[in-house]
Amino acid sequence: MTNDLVITSGRVFTGAALHPTATAVAVSGGRVVAIGSDEDALAAVPGGAELFDAAGGLITPGFLDSHVHPTQGGHERLTCDLTDSTDAASALELVRRYAVEHPEDDWIVGGGWHLPHFPGGLPRAELLEQAAPGRKVYLVNADHHGAWVSPAALAAAGMDADTPDPADGHIDRDPDGSPSGTLQEGAMDLFEHLLPVPDDAAYVDALVEAQRYLRSFGITGWQDAILGSYAGARDSTEAYLLGFESGALSARVSAALWLTRGFGLDEVADVVARLVAARDRIGVRTNDAGGSFKAVTVKIMQDGVPESRTAALKQPYLDGHGHPTDQLGPSHFPPEVLDAVAVALAREGFQLHIHAIGDRAVAEALHALGLAAEQTDGEALRHHLAHLQQVDLDDIATMASLGVTANLQALWACNSDQMTELNLPLVGEGRFREQYPFAAMAAAGVRLAMGSDWPVSTPDPWQAISVAVTRVEPGEDRYPPLGKGQELTLEQALSAYTAGSARVTLHDDAGRIELGGRADLAVADRNPFDLSAQQIHTVRNVLTVSAGRVVHRG
Ligand SMILES: [Zn+2]
Repeated sequence: MTNDLVITSGRVFTGAALHPTATAVAVSGGRVVAIGSDEDALAAVPGGAELFDAAGGLITPGFLDSHVHPTQGGHERLTCDLTDSTDAASALELVRRYAVEHPEDDWIVGGGWHLPHFPGGLPRAELLEQAAPGRKVYLVNADHHGAWVSPAALAAAGMDADTPDPADGHIDRDPDGSPSGTLQEGAMDLFEHLLPVPDDAAYVDALVEAQRYLRSFGITGWQDAILGSYAGARDSTEAYLLGFESGALSARVSAALWLTRGFGLDEVADVVARLVAARDRIGVRTNDAGGSFKAVTVKIMQDGVPESRTAALKQPYLDGHGHPTDQLGPSHFPPEVLDAVAVALAREGFQLHIHAIGDRAVAEALHALGLAAEQTDGEALRHHLAHLQQVDLDDIATMASLGVTANLQALWACNSDQMTELNLPLVGEGRFREQYPFAAMAAAGVRLAMGSDWPVSTPDPWQAISVAVTRVEPGEDRYPPLGKGQELTLEQALSAYTAGSARVTLHDDAGRIELGGRADLAVADRNPFDLSAQQIHTVRNVLTVSAGRVVHRG
């Protein structure tokens, strides 16, 4: 059921640009029926409508988050959530309190702790023993590429100095080889069989909480960046299907099926056949509440993150004293396997969403997409590369010529404690300055989309847009801007988070405000075009409309 709605006294960003004159948008039957003056909009719904006074704020299309993990984010909000911790002590206090409030839990799970709060980004197991004596604790960090575990958890996993590192990750250790309390990348999987498995009902609750939370920031749709079982998290396909069937989920969702690692060239056909079956089983689900769900994308993680030396680089990591090591970071897929699987997936009509952080991972991904483009219409499939921290200029030109979209997590494109303490020593000044070359991509004609990677980072688009246009941490001036000249304009950033993300999340009638178009809208409390770039982080979402229905009011 939708009520007619008129939003007045604002300004309108259409998805491409600030509308020269419009102050209002009228909505009827779930569609935009007027964009113009307050009088025009009121006249368009003569039977009367719910009124919302935007009070000088900006009316935008609903934001689309092009890379997000809603099941994990929602689940984390409902478990031991350390996202809001501000230092080690506050993280431990949250664990202590959670342990006391949940005496019956066999395992304490959750996450969201922040690397810079602990020396080297490596908190020790004993800290968890002090906070939750005797309890088995497993907490993923905010970037989800590592986990922190308690001594009881290590004991339950039988993990000790003799436990070998898996091929695709490592156990952090003391000098005597015994595990110190953190696990990186594939080492997290060594706990997968031990952790409590949330049932589908719990995952539906997580997704509904995620939808509520994302909508509070003006987000009306997204691409789930991993649909499948990954790092101890269970496949959430059933939860999505249940949520859409009941109508509890009504956002617009496309999901990226997770490509498991560790297969060889001879297994490519089988792997692809399984993904086709998963896609076809889901089909395109829609419901009366305006929701839609499909999974015609495959997520490929080609490398990790620089902080744990798992991003795939062209030049070696430094040892922390400016000297090169012999480490380049692993490619999660050998290039010949990546090439073969990318071509086979594109031939089946899949969009590819490739995690590429290091410059070598980017080049490998583009090589594979270039081969796919020789046999398929890459432009139509809308492939995208996510994260793009280190990117060679030559590879930017290739992205543009292949029509590959840059899926930006703009919030990360600034200097911060984490970047200075954990990233700078590993890559050195030169490479550090060249990270996240957004303006170079835009100038080369690369299409831009934006996403948050929540729960890795806040899903608030205004925080990411703030960094995209300033290249400094929201509201901070402790560090100079990262990468001089790589700022986007406000129009470029807003357009990326709306129209750009709509294209890459495969929602063709989203991401813009136009007559007759579906009414997915967000209203900001102020017009950021009237603010200085440094003030943009203070903008707040006050109204979210999905298919003509008010789904959040701030
Ligand atoms: Zn992600």
